[in-house]
Amino acid sequence: MPMPSHYSRRGFLAGMSALALQATERTEPELILHNGNILTVDDSQPRAQAVAVAGGRFLVVGSNDDVQHLAKAGVRQIDLGGKTVVPGFIDAHSHPCYAGIRHLRWVDCDLRSIADIQNAIRARAAKTPAGEWIIGFKYDDTKTKEGRKLTRDDLDAATSQHPVFIEHRGGHTAYVNSLALRRAEIAEDVADPPGGKFDRDPANGRLTGGLRENAVGPFRKLLPVNFSREEMREGVKLISQMMVRTGVTSVGDCEATPEDLLAYQDAREAGELSIRVYCFLQYQFLDRMTAAGIRTGLGDEWLRVGAIKLVCDGSISERTARLTQPYVGRPNDYGILVHTEEELYENARRAHSAGWQIGTHANGDAAIDIMLRIYERLQREMPRRDPRYRLEHCTVVNPSLIQRIRALGAIPTPFSTYVYYHGEKMREYGPERLNWMFAVRSFLDAGIRVTQASDYPPGPFEPMMALRSEVTRTDSHGNVWGPKQRVTVEEALRVGTINGAYASFEETQKGSITAGKLADLVVLGRDPLRVDPMELIDIPVERTMVGGRWMFGS
Ligand SMILES: [Zn+2]
Repeated sequence: MPMPSHYSRRGFLAGMSALALQATERTEPELILHNGNILTVDDSQPRAQAVAVAGGRFLVVGSNDDVQHLAKAGVRQIDLGGKTVVPGFIDAHSHPCYAGIRHLRWVDCDLRSIADIQNAIRARAAKTPAGEWIIGFKYDDTKTKEGRKLTRDDLDAATSQHPVFIEHRGGHTAYVNSLALRRAEIAEDVADPPGGKFDRDPANGRLTGGLRENAVGPFRKLLPVNFSREEMREGVKLISQMMVRTGVTSVGDCEATPEDLLAYQDAREAGELSIRVYCFLQYQFLDRMTAAGIRTGLGDEWLRVGAIKLVCDGSISERTARLTQPYVGRPNDYGILVHTEEELYENARRAHSAGWQIGTHANGDAAIDIMLRIYERLQREMPRRDPRYRLEHCTVVNPSLIQRIRALGAIPTPFSTYVYYHGEKMREYGPERLNWMFAVRSFLDAGIRVTQASDYPPGPFEPMMALRSEVTRTDSHGNVWGPKQRVTVEEALRVGTINGAYASFEETQKGSITAGKLADLVVLGRDPLRVDPMELIDIPVERTMVGGRWMFGS
């Protein structure tokens, strides 16, 4: 729905070239915030002191004088005490429904030693009937002090009475125990499946329990993922609360099933959905959805159907992304493609012709090249105005890929917290390549509308960590990775707000503090423009408003 766009000039703020913006329809504010340092991310009025909110939207944005005189008796007013306010952050690519149910039901393996992971599994085993699966998630082989990967022997030592499946934080690899191998009928002489690999001990060829890409498939089929509708709703409630308290007000769920979409609807109807969701559907559901007349854009400002999700290659954190140059120290390893170009084209063509936006997981430069070729072909064969093709992650680029992305008007959604959080994995890409990874600077310079994106669970979703990561390009130990891609705080804010709105065709509805837009904002404990950039991650999020309501703090 297009918003009223009649703005009236109501005078200038001292020292700011700002003009108040007033939407015409509603004139009675329900809530006024004043005396703030408001960074609007709106070029027509970059700074403001006050906002009036009505009907879940910003009614007026301007100086204290512009706004406060509108207050009638009984209107709630909040003195911000000079605090900094920014638009609500938009995490353009994440997996909230998936993560929420796991936080509710699985073993969180974001732990710092294999011994700690074994203890967590033992504790769960003590409460779980023998023979039932124990499933872990958020395991990261680079974050445990032993400096090696989990093995079936580690897991057997934790329990031999339960099949155990531990998912890597990146989602593309997993680790199982001996009972799980037996359950999946994987014998020692098994052949690697196309696009997958069973890890083996180099000394004796024995299976180690490590599974890569398509080798995970036989196990996933056995996992009890029959969560009840209640549990799914509960998971959405939990994760939306976790995200909103960090300043996230909108999220792209980039790989949903119809059941996930239902869980969001249930949570919303129960009043338990704290953030807005742009919900991608996996390509397997394309025909079913299209037959029901469902496509990108259906829904409303709380829950909207997003793109069709395709997957081209492996992952960055697990070092399986498909590259044109091999990984450092592994001269024959170029990563993995999980579908052929022809398969990807067929699925993309069906989605495009049915009116869907397409978002394809493409990390490595070889994968991005393939997807651009497919998108370019679609535009030649079935040109559509403003298709906003998305390149999910779009991690490793080069000047010619950037030119093609710009020419198509495609949208990259690079990992915003990886440099900070996954610094120790960056060595395998090497310093040269790092200057072309998570290439926010290059995208902005080319006029490409790059977004902020966590991919949670693989990456943390805290927007303040994203700012530190994108602005300083340092990891948690202070090592610098790809300094040529540094951006300013103002640029990172824009990437995390209005660009995310554009990526879901909602830039007229949200992404800036502008009269007429949805009243989504974050109150910060300090001004990000005035702190040492290394301390951006320490800025407290004090309150988060979504649609005019305080979803966190009050
Ligand atoms: Zn993802």
